[in-house]
Amino acid sequence: MTGEVTTTAQVIDGKAFAAGLRARIADAVPTFEAAIGRAPGLAVVLVGDDPASAVYVGSKGKATVAAGMASFEHRLPASASQAEVEALLVTLNADEAVDGILLQLPLPGHLDEQAAVATIHPDKDVDGLTPVSAGRLALGIPGMVPCTPYGCLLLLQDRLGDLSGKDAVVIGRSILVGKPMAQLLLGANCTVTMAHSRTKDLPDLVRRADIVVAAVGRAEMIKGDWIKPGAIVIDVGINRLAAAPGEAKGRLVGDVDYASAAAVAAAVTPVPGGVGPMTIACLLRNTLVAAHRRAGLADPKGF
Ligand code: NDP
Repeated sequence: MTGEVTTTAQVIDGKAFAAGLRARIADAVPTFEAAIGRAPGLAVVLVGDDPASAVYVGSKGKATVAAGMASFEHRLPASASQAEVEALLVTLNADEAVDGILLQLPLPGHLDEQAAVATIHPDKDVDGLTPVSAGRLALGIPGMVPCTPYGCLLLLQDRLGDLSGKDAVVIGRSILVGKPMAQLLLGANCTVTMAHSRTKDLPDLVRRADIVVAAVGRAEMIKGDWIKPGAIVIDVGINRLAAAPGEAKGRLVGDVDYASAAAVAAAVTPVPGGVGPMTIACLLRNTLVAAHRRAGLADPKGF
Protein backbone atom coordinates (compact mmCIF):
# COMPACT_ATOMS: atom_id res chain seq x y z
CA MET A 1 0.00 0.00 0.00
CA THR A 2 1.58 3.27 -1.06
CA GLY A 3 -1.44 5.40 -0.16
CA GLU A 4 -1.63 6.60 -3.77
CA VAL A 5 -5.02 6.98 -5.40
CA THR A 6 -5.51 4.29 -8.03
CA THR A 7 -7.72 5.15 -10.97
CA THR A 8 -10.17 2.31 -11.56
CA ALA A 9 -13.04 3.99 -13.38
CA GLN A 10 -13.61 3.68 -17.08
CA VAL A 11 -13.69 6.97 -18.95
CA ILE A 12 -17.04 7.60 -20.64
CA ASP A 13 -15.93 9.01 -23.98
CA GLY A 14 -18.72 11.43 -24.85
CA LYS A 15 -16.70 12.87 -27.71
CA ALA A 16 -16.53 9.49 -29.49
CA PHE A 17 -20.18 8.68 -28.71
CA ALA A 18 -21.28 12.09 -30.03
CA ALA A 19 -19.22 11.62 -33.21
CA GLY A 20 -20.95 8.27 -33.79
CA LEU A 21 -24.39 9.80 -33.19
CA ARG A 22 -23.65 12.66 -35.60
CA ALA A 23 -22.49 10.17 -38.24
CA ARG A 24 -25.73 8.16 -37.86
CA ILE A 25 -27.77 11.37 -38.14
CA ALA A 26 -25.88 12.34 -41.32
CA ASP A 27 -26.65 8.86 -42.71
CA ALA A 28 -30.38 9.30 -42.00
CA VAL A 29 -30.70 12.73 -43.65
CA PRO A 30 -30.67 11.57 -47.32
CA THR A 31 -33.56 9.15 -46.66
CA PHE A 32 -35.64 12.03 -45.26
CA GLU A 33 -34.62 14.26 -48.14
CA ALA A 34 -35.60 11.61 -50.69
CA ALA A 35 -39.03 11.21 -49.05
CA ILE A 36 -39.86 14.89 -48.46
CA GLY A 37 -37.87 16.74 -51.10
CA ARG A 38 -35.81 18.89 -48.75
CA ALA A 39 -33.30 18.46 -45.92
CA PRO A 40 -34.30 18.99 -42.27
CA GLY A 41 -33.75 22.64 -41.33
CA LEU A 42 -32.54 24.25 -38.09
CA ALA A 43 -32.89 27.99 -37.46
CA VAL A 44 -30.72 29.56 -34.76
CA VAL A 45 -31.56 33.03 -33.45
CA LEU A 46 -28.87 35.15 -31.82
CA VAL A 47 -29.85 38.43 -30.16
CA GLY A 48 -26.96 40.79 -29.41
CA ASP A 49 -23.23 40.22 -29.72
CA ASP A 50 -22.17 38.19 -26.70
CA PRO A 51 -18.92 36.58 -27.91
CA ALA A 52 -19.48 33.20 -26.21
CA SER A 53 -23.01 32.97 -27.67
CA ALA A 54 -21.68 33.88 -31.12
CA VAL A 55 -19.16 31.01 -30.87
CA TYR A 56 -21.92 28.55 -29.82
CA VAL A 57 -24.16 29.69 -32.68
CA GLY A 58 -21.27 29.32 -35.14
CA SER A 59 -20.50 25.76 -34.02
CA LYS A 60 -24.17 24.76 -34.11
CA GLY A 61 -24.44 26.08 -37.67
CA LYS A 62 -21.31 24.20 -38.78
CA ALA A 63 -22.49 20.94 -37.18
CA THR A 64 -25.90 21.31 -38.86
CA VAL A 65 -24.34 21.74 -42.31
CA ALA A 66 -21.88 18.88 -41.64
CA ALA A 67 -24.88 16.60 -40.97
CA GLY A 68 -26.35 17.55 -44.36
CA MET A 69 -29.14 19.69 -42.88
CA ALA A 70 -30.11 23.25 -43.77
CA SER A 71 -28.86 25.89 -41.34
CA PHE A 72 -30.57 29.29 -41.04
CA GLU A 73 -28.87 31.89 -38.87
CA HIS A 74 -30.77 34.99 -37.76
CA ARG A 75 -29.10 37.81 -35.89
CA LEU A 76 -30.89 40.67 -34.15
CA PRO A 77 -29.15 43.65 -32.54
CA ALA A 78 -28.74 43.81 -28.74
CA SER A 79 -31.28 46.65 -28.81
CA ALA A 80 -34.02 44.44 -30.33
CA SER A 81 -37.38 44.73 -28.59
CA GLN A 82 -39.40 41.84 -27.19
CA ALA A 83 -41.89 42.33 -30.02
CA GLU A 84 -39.14 42.11 -32.66
CA VAL A 85 -37.71 38.88 -31.18
CA GLU A 86 -41.14 37.28 -30.91
CA ALA A 87 -42.10 38.42 -34.44
CA LEU A 88 -39.03 36.65 -35.84
CA LEU A 89 -39.91 33.47 -33.91
CA VAL A 90 -43.50 33.61 -35.21
CA THR A 91 -42.16 33.91 -38.79
CA LEU A 92 -39.91 30.89 -38.23
CA ASN A 93 -42.85 28.94 -36.73
CA ALA A 94 -44.64 29.41 -40.06
CA ASP A 95 -41.62 28.69 -42.27
CA GLU A 96 -42.06 25.27 -43.89
CA ALA A 97 -38.29 24.83 -44.41
CA VAL A 98 -37.62 25.20 -40.67
CA ASP A 99 -38.08 22.09 -38.50
CA GLY A 100 -36.25 23.30 -35.43
CA ILE A 101 -35.84 26.72 -33.80
CA LEU A 102 -33.18 27.46 -31.24
CA LEU A 103 -33.16 30.80 -29.44
CA GLN A 104 -29.63 31.23 -28.12
CA LEU A 105 -29.69 32.15 -24.41
CA PRO A 106 -29.05 34.26 -22.47
CA LEU A 107 -30.93 37.14 -24.08
CA PRO A 108 -29.94 40.75 -23.34
CA GLY A 109 -31.20 41.76 -19.89
CA HIS A 110 -34.13 43.91 -21.02
CA LEU A 111 -35.84 40.94 -22.71
CA ASP A 112 -38.20 38.39 -21.12
CA GLU A 113 -36.58 35.02 -21.91
CA GLN A 114 -39.44 32.83 -20.77
CA ALA A 115 -41.98 34.74 -22.85
CA ALA A 116 -39.72 34.62 -25.90
CA VAL A 117 -39.06 30.87 -25.54
CA ALA A 118 -42.79 30.23 -25.10
CA THR A 119 -43.38 31.82 -28.54
CA ILE A 120 -41.57 28.90 -30.24
CA HIS A 121 -43.97 26.30 -31.62
CA PRO A 122 -43.61 23.17 -29.40
CA ASP A 123 -43.16 20.92 -32.45
CA LYS A 124 -40.12 23.01 -33.47
CA ASP A 125 -38.78 23.40 -29.93
CA VAL A 126 -35.52 21.47 -30.44
CA ASP A 127 -34.09 22.89 -27.21
CA GLY A 128 -37.05 21.40 -25.30
CA LEU A 129 -37.48 24.52 -23.18
CA THR A 130 -41.05 25.64 -23.88
CA PRO A 131 -43.69 25.05 -21.19
CA VAL A 132 -45.44 22.61 -23.54
CA SER A 133 -42.24 20.54 -23.98
CA ALA A 134 -41.64 20.51 -20.21
CA GLY A 135 -45.28 19.44 -19.71
CA ARG A 136 -45.03 16.66 -22.28
CA LEU A 137 -41.86 15.37 -20.62
CA ALA A 138 -43.54 15.42 -17.19
CA LEU A 139 -46.58 13.59 -18.61
CA GLY A 140 -44.40 11.04 -20.40
CA ILE A 141 -45.81 11.81 -23.85
CA PRO A 142 -43.64 12.33 -26.96
CA GLY A 143 -42.12 15.77 -27.27
CA MET A 144 -38.84 17.57 -27.57
CA VAL A 145 -36.40 16.91 -24.72
CA PRO A 146 -33.60 19.33 -23.69
CA CYS A 147 -30.37 18.35 -25.42
CA THR A 148 -27.88 18.15 -22.54
CA PRO A 149 -29.92 15.86 -20.26
CA TYR A 150 -30.94 13.72 -23.23
CA GLY A 151 -27.24 13.33 -24.05
CA CYS A 152 -26.59 12.25 -20.45
CA LEU A 153 -29.38 9.64 -20.71
CA LEU A 154 -27.88 8.22 -23.91
CA LEU A 155 -24.46 7.90 -22.25
CA LEU A 156 -26.01 6.14 -19.24
CA GLN A 157 -28.04 3.75 -21.38
CA ASP A 158 -24.98 2.99 -23.50
CA ARG A 159 -23.06 2.09 -20.36
CA LEU A 160 -25.76 0.33 -18.31
CA GLY A 161 -28.44 -0.77 -20.77
CA ASP A 162 -31.70 -0.90 -18.80
CA LEU A 163 -31.72 1.69 -15.99
CA SER A 164 -34.77 0.19 -14.21
CA GLY A 165 -34.55 0.22 -10.43
CA LYS A 166 -31.28 2.17 -10.25
CA ASP A 167 -30.97 4.78 -7.51
CA ALA A 168 -30.13 8.09 -9.20
CA VAL A 169 -29.22 11.40 -7.62
CA VAL A 170 -29.38 14.54 -9.76
CA ILE A 171 -27.54 17.47 -8.17
CA GLY A 172 -28.98 20.72 -9.52
CA ARG A 173 -32.58 21.60 -10.39
CA SER A 174 -32.26 24.02 -13.29
CA ILE A 175 -34.87 24.12 -16.03
CA LEU A 176 -32.11 23.49 -18.59
CA VAL A 177 -30.48 20.43 -16.99
CA GLY A 178 -31.48 19.19 -13.53
CA LYS A 179 -35.28 19.06 -13.79
CA PRO A 180 -35.50 17.45 -17.25
CA MET A 181 -32.68 15.04 -16.27
CA ALA A 182 -34.71 13.87 -13.27
CA GLN A 183 -37.80 13.42 -15.49
CA LEU A 184 -35.83 11.39 -18.03
CA LEU A 185 -34.38 9.12 -15.33
CA LEU A 186 -37.83 8.67 -13.81
CA GLY A 187 -39.13 7.81 -17.28
CA ALA A 188 -36.37 5.18 -17.48
CA ASN A 189 -37.66 3.69 -14.17
CA CYS A 190 -34.89 4.94 -11.90
CA THR A 191 -35.65 5.94 -8.31
CA VAL A 192 -34.71 9.59 -8.51
CA THR A 193 -33.64 12.06 -5.85
CA MET A 194 -33.14 15.71 -6.80
CA ALA A 195 -30.64 17.69 -4.77
CA HIS A 196 -30.03 21.44 -4.73
CA SER A 197 -28.43 24.18 -2.66
CA ARG A 198 -30.77 23.60 0.31
CA THR A 199 -30.30 19.82 0.41
CA LYS A 200 -29.08 18.49 3.76
CA ASP A 201 -26.29 15.91 4.04
CA LEU A 202 -25.56 15.93 0.32
CA PRO A 203 -22.50 13.63 0.57
CA ASP A 204 -24.60 10.97 2.36
CA LEU A 205 -27.33 11.24 -0.25
CA VAL A 206 -24.86 10.91 -3.12
CA ARG A 207 -23.22 7.88 -1.43
CA ARG A 208 -26.46 5.91 -1.90
CA ALA A 209 -26.66 6.47 -5.65
CA ASP A 210 -25.90 4.01 -8.45
CA ILE A 211 -26.06 6.98 -10.84
CA VAL A 212 -24.87 10.50 -10.02
CA VAL A 213 -25.56 13.40 -12.38
CA ALA A 214 -23.84 16.61 -11.31
CA ALA A 215 -25.17 19.87 -12.78
CA VAL A 216 -24.22 22.45 -10.21
CA GLY A 217 -21.72 24.87 -11.72
CA ARG A 218 -19.21 24.58 -8.86
CA ALA A 219 -15.71 23.43 -9.72
CA GLU A 220 -14.81 19.95 -8.40
CA MET A 221 -17.39 20.11 -5.60
CA ILE A 222 -18.32 16.41 -5.62
CA LYS A 223 -15.51 14.39 -4.06
CA GLY A 224 -14.56 10.75 -4.47
CA ASP A 225 -15.54 9.88 -0.90
CA TRP A 226 -19.13 10.93 -1.75
CA ILE A 227 -19.31 8.27 -4.46
CA LYS A 228 -20.57 4.71 -3.91
CA PRO A 229 -18.05 2.17 -5.20
CA GLY A 230 -19.11 1.10 -8.68
CA ALA A 231 -21.41 4.08 -9.34
CA ILE A 232 -21.65 5.78 -12.72
CA VAL A 233 -20.89 9.50 -12.58
CA ILE A 234 -22.07 11.97 -15.21
CA ASP A 235 -20.47 15.39 -14.84
CA VAL A 236 -22.39 18.14 -16.66
CA GLY A 237 -20.46 21.02 -15.09
CA ILE A 238 -18.15 23.23 -17.10
CA ASN A 239 -16.08 25.51 -14.89
CA ARG A 240 -12.95 27.43 -15.79
CA LEU A 241 -10.34 27.61 -13.01
CA ALA A 242 -8.24 30.72 -12.51
CA ALA A 243 -5.12 30.68 -14.72
CA ALA A 244 -2.05 29.26 -13.01
CA PRO A 245 1.21 31.20 -13.37
CA GLY A 246 2.41 30.82 -16.96
CA GLU A 247 -1.02 29.76 -18.28
CA ALA A 248 -2.91 32.01 -20.72
CA LYS A 249 -6.20 30.75 -19.29
CA GLY A 250 -7.27 28.38 -16.55
CA ARG A 251 -8.15 24.72 -17.03
CA LEU A 252 -11.72 23.56 -17.65
CA VAL A 253 -13.01 21.27 -14.92
CA GLY A 254 -16.37 19.73 -14.06
CA ASP A 255 -18.46 19.74 -10.90
CA VAL A 256 -16.87 16.42 -9.90
CA ASP A 257 -13.37 16.06 -8.51
CA TYR A 258 -12.37 13.72 -11.33
CA ALA A 259 -9.26 12.07 -9.84
CA SER A 260 -10.84 11.10 -6.52
CA ALA A 261 -14.16 10.08 -8.12
CA ALA A 262 -12.40 7.94 -10.72
CA ALA A 263 -10.73 5.98 -7.92
CA VAL A 264 -14.14 4.79 -6.67
CA ALA A 265 -16.67 4.92 -9.52
CA ALA A 266 -17.16 2.32 -12.25
CA ALA A 267 -17.22 5.01 -14.94
CA VAL A 268 -17.00 8.80 -15.11
CA THR A 269 -17.43 11.40 -17.85
CA PRO A 270 -14.36 13.63 -18.23
CA VAL A 271 -14.49 17.41 -18.64
CA PRO A 272 -13.92 18.35 -21.38
CA GLY A 273 -14.87 15.47 -23.71
CA GLY A 274 -17.76 13.97 -21.75
CA VAL A 275 -21.23 15.51 -21.73
CA GLY A 276 -20.27 18.68 -23.65
CA PRO A 277 -20.03 17.12 -27.16
CA MET A 278 -23.37 15.34 -26.62
CA THR A 279 -25.31 18.61 -26.47
CA ILE A 280 -24.85 19.62 -30.12
CA ALA A 281 -25.23 16.00 -31.28
CA CYS A 282 -28.60 15.83 -29.49
CA LEU A 283 -29.63 19.17 -31.01
CA LEU A 284 -29.13 17.58 -34.44
CA ARG A 285 -30.97 14.47 -33.26
CA ASN A 286 -33.91 16.60 -32.09
CA THR A 287 -33.96 18.45 -35.43
CA LEU A 288 -34.03 15.15 -37.34
CA VAL A 289 -36.85 13.82 -35.12
CA ALA A 290 -38.82 17.10 -35.35
CA ALA A 291 -38.52 17.02 -39.14
CA HIS A 292 -39.90 13.47 -39.30
CA ARG A 293 -42.82 14.25 -36.98
CA ARG A 294 -43.72 17.45 -38.85
CA ALA A 295 -43.66 15.55 -42.13
CA GLY A 296 -45.95 12.85 -40.70
CA LEU A 297 -43.21 10.20 -40.88
CA ALA A 298 -42.44 7.67 -38.15
CA ASP A 299 -39.54 8.64 -35.88
CA PRO A 300 -36.20 7.62 -37.40
CA LYS A 301 -35.05 4.34 -35.85
CA GLY A 302 -32.17 4.15 -33.38
CA PHE A 303 -32.23 7.74 -32.06
P1 NDP B 1 -27.78 26.66 -12.75
O1 NDP B 1 -26.89 27.68 -12.11
O2 NDP B 1 -29.00 27.10 -13.46
O3 NDP B 1 -28.25 25.61 -11.62
C1 NDP B 1 -27.34 25.13 -10.68
C2 NDP B 1 -28.07 24.22 -9.71
O4 NDP B 1 -27.11 23.75 -8.77
C3 NDP B 1 -29.17 24.90 -8.92
O5 NDP B 1 -30.32 24.09 -8.90
C4 NDP B 1 -28.59 25.08 -7.53
O6 NDP B 1 -29.52 24.96 -6.49
C5 NDP B 1 -27.63 23.91 -7.45
N1 NDP B 1 -26.56 24.19 -6.51
C6 NDP B 1 -25.78 25.30 -6.43
N2 NDP B 1 -24.91 25.18 -5.41
C7 NDP B 1 -25.14 23.98 -4.83
C8 NDP B 1 -24.56 23.30 -3.75
N3 NDP B 1 -23.57 23.82 -3.02
N4 NDP B 1 -25.06 22.08 -3.42
C9 NDP B 1 -26.06 21.53 -4.15
N5 NDP B 1 -26.64 22.14 -5.20
C10 NDP B 1 -26.18 23.35 -5.53
O7 NDP B 1 -26.84 25.80 -13.67
P2 NDP B 1 -27.15 24.88 -14.97
O8 NDP B 1 -28.02 23.73 -14.58
O9 NDP B 1 -27.53 25.72 -16.11
O10 NDP B 1 -25.68 24.34 -15.26
C11 NDP B 1 -24.97 23.55 -14.33
C12 NDP B 1 -23.56 23.32 -14.85
O11 NDP B 1 -23.64 22.60 -16.07
C13 NDP B 1 -22.77 24.58 -15.17
O12 NDP B 1 -21.39 24.33 -14.89
C14 NDP B 1 -22.95 24.76 -16.67
O13 NDP B 1 -21.87 25.44 -17.25
C15 NDP B 1 -22.98 23.32 -17.10
N6 NDP B 1 -23.70 23.08 -18.35
C16 NDP B 1 -23.09 22.28 -19.28
C17 NDP B 1 -23.71 21.97 -20.46
C18 NDP B 1 -23.02 21.06 -21.41
O14 NDP B 1 -23.32 21.07 -22.59
N7 NDP B 1 -22.11 20.20 -20.93
C19 NDP B 1 -25.02 22.54 -20.81
C20 NDP B 1 -25.63 23.28 -19.73
C21 NDP B 1 -24.97 23.55 -18.56
P3 NDP B 1 -30.70 26.03 -6.21
O15 NDP B 1 -31.75 25.72 -7.26
O16 NDP B 1 -31.14 25.73 -4.84
O17 NDP B 1 -30.09 27.39 -6.39
